[in-house]
Amino acid sequence: MLKNLCGHFSNVIHHKWIVFLLCCKAGIPFRGLVHDLSKFSPTEFWQGVKYYKDGKRSPIQYAKEDYGYSKAWLHHKGRNKHHPEYWYDPNAPESLPIIPFKYMCETICDQLAAGKVYKGKAWTKEYQLQYWNAHINKFLLNDKLKNFVTEVLTMVAENGIDKTITKNNLRKCYDKNIR
Ligand SMILES: [Zn+2]
Repeated sequence: MLKNLCGHFSNVIHHKWIVFLLCCKAGIPFRGLVHDLSKFSPTEFWQGVKYYKDGKRSPIQYAKEDYGYSKAWLHHKGRNKHHPEYWYDPNAPESLPIIPFKYMCETICDQLAAGKVYKGKAWTKEYQLQYWNAHINKFLLNDKLKNFVTEVLTMVAENGIDKTITKNNLRKCYDKNIR
């Protein structure tokens, strides 16, 4: 129990730290600061502790395998604008709207950080694009925004994070894809 608590807590802090560094590069430090704060709410925190295994996968995945759904995830996606699921509304005129720039940048920083934390030393700059391409049909995301993410992750695969995750570059790609 204590091992799980420490393991989960340090994983969340590690993830938040990498997201913060990436968000600073992207010019959205405040988003980096408040990223995933709801993980410290009881609903999310204790499920994370209970399903902490080895830090290589999200505890939410293990909870879903047990119950078919995860209360922590339902809580999380309803409160965090960097998750495209937050914006999905089948009854809205546009069920998959255009998500504002700063949250889309946070989404990308989140994915890169998750990959880095879960993969550790095995992480490569091509990894995130491979993961994205393998799961692209599962993402509830407007096609224009999918193109934006694909373009950014392709740049990461080719040129690395430092050259890609900059405010100017992200802004240029976003504007180009959503018009
Ligand atoms: Zn999140």
